Amino acid sequence: MASKISRRAFLKGSFTAAGSVAVSSSVVKAAASLAKEETEPLVTLIDISKCIGCEECVYACRESDVAKYPAPEKPFPKMFPKRVPVQDWSDKRDETDRLTPYNWLFIQPATAMVNGEELELTIPRRCMHCENPPCVKLCPWGAAKQEPNGLSRIDADICLGGSKCKAVCPWNVPQRQTGVGLYLDILPSLAGNGVMYKCDRCYQRLEKGETPACIEICPENVQTIGPRSKMIKQAHALAKQTGGYIYGETENGGTNTLYVSPVSFDQLILETGKGQPAMEEVENMMADGSNLARAMLIAPIAGALAAFGKFYKRVKEED
Ligand code: SF4
Ligand code: SF4
Ligand code: SF4
Repeated sequence: MASKISRRAFLKGSFTAAGSVAVSSSVVKAAASLAKEETEPLVTLIDISKCIGCEECVYACRESDVAKYPAPEKPFPKMFPKRVPVQDWSDKRDETDRLTPYNWLFIQPATAMVNGEELELTIPRRCMHCENPPCVKLCPWGAAKQEPNGLSRIDADICLGGSKCKAVCPWNVPQRQTGVGLYLDILPSLAGNGVMYKCDRCYQRLEKGETPACIEICPENVQTIGPRSKMIKQAHALAKQTGGYIYGETENGGTNTLYVSPVSFDQLILETGKGQPAMEEVENMMADGSNLARAMLIAPIAGALAAFGKFYKRVKEED
């Protein structure tokens, strides 16, 4: 059986240079001011070699976003057709080993063989915030949107839970909770059966010039955030200095999340499954002709439906 080496032992031998490329708090401050200026998308750089799997980020995310979590009404309406599945995570809110409507970030264990020894790694996983996000472009209800700073988010007031965003996401990130949202009022038996949830990159914190909760809390400074051009340079410098590999620069046409790993991504053996995405090469979903055409058709209708959803919500609140 192969012997195991710890992340720290491996890094001591091969990755001592990594620390020198760490992004300082000045970059974090720069990111905060950039969020206001909206001049360039913000990119998160995740240095996998530094993560110790402590899950501080997971719990910080929960604390920061708890007010956005679903509060479903039970019993759920009967659906037609019956094949529309009920997805109820409200009794499993504590699960942290996968993405759920109540857990937008999880720590994914990974192993790789390095010089005949097994290296253990832990990887923070959440929405990649794609540069050209299919979840946004192909949402038929206009519920998903992308901000000028590059983050994408799903408006829980408008989403009908049809799950198109999950189907077109190369990592199947968004997760559905039944019994919550607009469908209960307008199409309780026919619509998508809930609302889709995912990381929104702490947009409310960025708006105030703060960094996302998961970045701020991390004791190892695993994640840093800054303007796209700067973060790409930083990722390449880190990869060059450490002999590492980058994921996210080209996947799905490029994402606003860049991972740098000490071993190549095709060598990483991840624990994958439902809500636990892989890290494979993925093609650009929006380069597909039929998706492009669909996005162009959807855009005006989705805009009108989103406006209706907002209007309906406002009227309901005033009642
Ligand atoms: S807080 Fe930092 S070190 Fe801990 S699991 Fe999250 S990314 Fe890794
Ligand atoms: S990773 Fe998936 S959910 Fe996130 S922006 Fe890209 S397509 Fe959308
Ligand atoms: S950016 Fe915010 S919402 Fe996204 S995983 Fe981090 S803490 Fe959670």
